[in-house]
Amino acid sequence: MAKKENNNELMEKIVSLCKRRGFIFPGSEIYGGMANSWDYGPLGVELKNNVKQAWWKKFVHSRTDMVGIDAALIMNPKVWEASGHLKNFTDPLVECKKCHERFRADKISGDKCPACGGELTTAKQFNLMFKTFIGPAEESANIAYFRPETAQAMFVDFKQVAETSRKRVPFGIAQIGKAFRNEITPGNFIFRTREFEQMEIEYFIREKDWKKTFEYWHEEMYEWMGELGLAKKHLHDLEVPEKERAHYSKRTIDIEYDFPFGTDELYGLAYRTDFDLANHAKASGQSLEYLDPETQEKFIPHVIEPTFGVDRSVLAVLCESYAEEEAPTAEKGETEKRVVLKFSKWLAPIKVAILPLSKKEELAKVARPIYEDLVKNFACEYDETQSIGKRYRRQDEIGTPYCVTVDFETLEDKAVTVRDRDTMKQERIAVSDLINYLKKKLEE
Ligand SMILES: [Zn+2]
Repeated sequence: MAKKENNNELMEKIVSLCKRRGFIFPGSEIYGGMANSWDYGPLGVELKNNVKQAWWKKFVHSRTDMVGIDAALIMNPKVWEASGHLKNFTDPLVECKKCHERFRADKISGDKCPACGGELTTAKQFNLMFKTFIGPAEESANIAYFRPETAQAMFVDFKQVAETSRKRVPFGIAQIGKAFRNEITPGNFIFRTREFEQMEIEYFIREKDWKKTFEYWHEEMYEWMGELGLAKKHLHDLEVPEKERAHYSKRTIDIEYDFPFGTDELYGLAYRTDFDLANHAKASGQSLEYLDPETQEKFIPHVIEPTFGVDRSVLAVLCESYAEEEAPTAEKGETEKRVVLKFSKWLAPIKVAILPLSKKEELAKVARPIYEDLVKNFACEYDETQSIGKRYRRQDEIGTPYCVTVDFETLEDKAVTVRDRDTMKQERIAVSDLINYLKKKLEE
């Protein structure tokens, strides 16, 4: 049976597997890396894209009440004034008078520096937005910010989108993109990073409908997490108390996941009222009212916002799928430990591995054309190095659902052996049936 320990050792194993197999590794590593920057490698980018594409298909393409946008990362700084981020998007910060290290005042206990025991300054508010300058002159008039959330573009573009898409309230705008936060204490691998990706929906409604719409999106989010393969017992709702809620929100639920390092926020669901649209209307002098074409009723829509972290989705999926098991070896009656990522099949970066039993040219002659055929249908890998046992272990570790072995019998019977990742059962399949067989299996 799969075993799951709830500790740092498991986290280290996952981080190490990610680096070893090319899912995720430290960024800029040849220069000694850069604190808290991570790069997605060839397998990581496939995994992440599978998450994003499935999300888009579910929440945009499969619905009649949703459209997408892809907005600029750097917006007019007035956006952040109106949204309240310039004033309110801050963390309280203390500095050690001795070693000058900085800490979040609400994350340390006591009044001494956790690093050296020195005396601390009183807390000052530190804005989390990344500042930059537009154009060559570094003057305050040219200050701009990298967006700290993708949401604001959906508010600022609301009128354009409503008019051009001809959607009627209730409807939603979805976006996938990067956001930036100058976190003081990032950490836990890709859990908290200064640069991260969000999948976000702003769902525009009439004020009277907010409670039922909030409940509706709560259920939709759980359905999605089920599709990701996250076990319900690892998911928890945290009703965020008023004093801890973001400045714009009247109700927020954080959906938390049991990560190996502890239970922490995975997704968020917030009722943002008409705060953003009303403030942007006031600050820009443009009307952001919606006119119902049937009732002629005019109003500023209220907003329910489901937010899904992309990187946290990837991390949760990795943690959920990681398993260690005893598997039989080639020697009869003997077992060895295998590590396997038991992804839902649709999430797996590689769907099928083609493994000729040996490097011999006569096998390659048959195996290569099979690979070239399969790769037109599935994400595939061709591997002929090392023993077949080691190659199975490698495919298990990257979560490949099916391995196709081409052996000397293939030359005679025009059939191959297909091995199932989870059951490790092997089946002999005619080469001519292989694509249909795999298509059917991968859809199960
Ligand atoms: Zn110190």
